[in-house]
Amino acid sequence: MSTINDKKGLLIIGAGGVSTVATLKCAMNIDTFENITSASRTLSKCVKIKKMIKEKIDIDIGVAMVDADDTSELIKLIKKVNCKVVLNVALPYQDLTIMDACSATKTHYIDTANYEHPDEAKFEYKEQWAKNDDFKKQNLTALLGSGFDPGVTGVFVKYIEQNYLDTIEYIDIMDCNAGDHGYPFATNFNPEINLREVSANGRYWEEGKWCTTKPLEISIDHDYPEIGVKPSYLLYHEELESLSKNIKGLKRIRFFMTFGDAYIQHMNCLQNVGMLGIEPVEHKGQMITPIEFLSTLLPDPASLGERTVGQTNIGCICEGIKDGERKKFYIYQICDHQECFKETTAQAVSYTTGVPAMIGSKLIYNGTWDLKGARNIEEYDAQPFVDEMMTQGLPWKIKEMEI
Ligand code: NDP
Repeated sequence: MSTINDKKGLLIIGAGGVSTVATLKCAMNIDTFENITSASRTLSKCVKIKKMIKEKIDIDIGVAMVDADDTSELIKLIKKVNCKVVLNVALPYQDLTIMDACSATKTHYIDTANYEHPDEAKFEYKEQWAKNDDFKKQNLTALLGSGFDPGVTGVFVKYIEQNYLDTIEYIDIMDCNAGDHGYPFATNFNPEINLREVSANGRYWEEGKWCTTKPLEISIDHDYPEIGVKPSYLLYHEELESLSKNIKGLKRIRFFMTFGDAYIQHMNCLQNVGMLGIEPVEHKGQMITPIEFLSTLLPDPASLGERTVGQTNIGCICEGIKDGERKKFYIYQICDHQECFKETTAQAVSYTTGVPAMIGSKLIYNGTWDLKGARNIEEYDAQPFVDEMMTQGLPWKIKEMEI
């Protein structure tokens, strides 16, 4: 079998909204990636991405069909394309099979969301972290969570720790999507994953303990720079698990996301009638899973780009100590839905995930980031990543806040 040194090229698995952006952005960086293959369950979606890239920037990529739930199919494909790095932008359900296929073929692995079991509405890093020794022994990297949140949020925190504060004591991650797609109800990334996340209990970490809240029980009004004041709801989000472990001296970390009234009313109603259920139910002699059926009915997030207007603002407020003095910084990134659409045919939520997925892949591919094992993004040097953000479409800002 080839070693990592004689493998080349990038294999991108999944061909949805995030992949549309990530694949185009990788093609824009073809000097790094040498060759790119887009593989997914539905070949026509890969072909659509291939055509869009050819039309936009005249770069050719390969396409392939793969069922990423099947490790042996993945191994065959990875061996065939002989790629050096696999970028997983399919669904969190496929994280473990894709990691196993990477390990079996000596290939680096990158993803944007942590593993979730389809039959249990719970996500955690445990099973991916359990693969750390295996990746390390083989001199391979599994970069976990290289989207925006998780992803850039971890990079932002690390950047503050490296440059602005000696100790970070409090972190609030603030995620605002002020975009309007004009539908009464739609989710801006995979509906099943999105609704499972939002309808779950809230959770935050304080003084070494996890505190649980009812779904959307805690909300604050937050003033998002260049957007304005928006009600923001406390959710559990996966980077809380890794940041609470990796940022030394931390006392509290929370995550807040904005939702409009219409979104919350629809979600509550769907929850109340059982449409968010993940257990199969019998309907006219057939077993169906309510949330999967709902996903089929809702607009495809990849189709929202053209009609979404407005901006996103995602950032981190970090408070702590610098040279004995208490200080607080807000580091954030603003994206415009229509500008993202013009560049990539996708809206800003896919854009803000797809660009960091490309940057993480680039830094692993070219060896700038070379920590081995299954590691979260905040374990790496933040500088090369924040520098790439400035030139690859995600310029960011930082300001000091009053205590
Ligand atoms: P989509 O539903 O638009 O796309 C998912 C893609 O994965 C589809 O092409 C789908 O194929 C493919 N897929 C699903 N199952 C399989 C399988 N078994 N084998 C092969 N391909 C498969 O999702 P998004 O693009 O919105 O999201 C992609 C990922 O990004 C998700 O994991 C999501 O959680 C993550 N994400 C991360 C964010 C972050 O900031 N970190 C933010 C937003 C999303 P098909 O079309 O045939 O079903």
